Amino acid sequence: MTTTITLVQGDITRESVDAIVNAANSSLLGGGGVDGAIHRRGGPEILAECRRLRASHYGKGLPTGKAVATTAGNLDARWVIHTVGPVHTPTEDRSDLLASCYRESLRVADELGARTVAFPAVSTGAYRWPMDDAARIAVGTVRHTPTAVEEVRFVLFDDRAYEAFSRQLG
Ligand code: ADP
Repeated sequence: MTTTITLVQGDITRESVDAIVNAANSSLLGGGGVDGAIHRRGGPEILAECRRLRASHYGKGLPTGKAVATTAGNLDARWVIHTVGPVHTPTEDRSDLLASCYRESLRVADELGARTVAFPAVSTGAYRWPMDDAARIAVGTVRHTPTAVEEVRFVLFDDRAYEAFSRQLG
C-alpha cells in the first residue's frame, strides 16, 4: 500500500481525519500554537487524558521525538497523536529527533489502525526550526517510513509553510 501525501493550507483543528498530530511539549499539559488550538477546540477530555498519561506512563513527560495518542475530544477525528518536536539550535544537529516525531507518530497511527493522519509542521513555531529544512525532513521521513496509513495530510498554517512543503513535493 502506498501512502499519498497531500497538502492543505489552514487550521488543523478543522480537518476530518482518523488522527490529528499535535506539536505538543513534553509536559503534555498544553501550550501555545497548534497545541493550544487543539485543546481549545477539542475540549477538556484531551487534557484529562494527558493528565492521566502524566500520572501513569509518562511521569517525567513525553520525551522529545516520541509520540502518544489520546482521544480527540470534540475534534472531527478519532485520536490526537501528541509528539514533541526538538527545539532548533544552531549548535547541535537535532534533525533525527525531528524525523523521529514523524516516524513515531506513524508507528502509533499504525497501532491504532488510523488510515488518514494530519500533521502540522512540527517544531516550526515556538521551537524555531527553519521552515524549508523542517519541510525537507517532514516529507522525506514520511516518504521513507513504511506504514499502513493511506493519506498523510500536512496542514500548513500560512503561505510560507505551504510553499515550503510544496517545493518538497514538487
Ligand atoms: P512547535 O513548538 O513544535 O514549534 P508550534 O505550535 O509553535 O509548535 O508551531 C508549529 C507550526 O504549527 C507552526 O508552523 C505554526 O504556524 C503552526 N500552527 C499554529 N497553529 C496552527 C493550527 N491551528 N493549525 C495548523 N498549524 C498551526
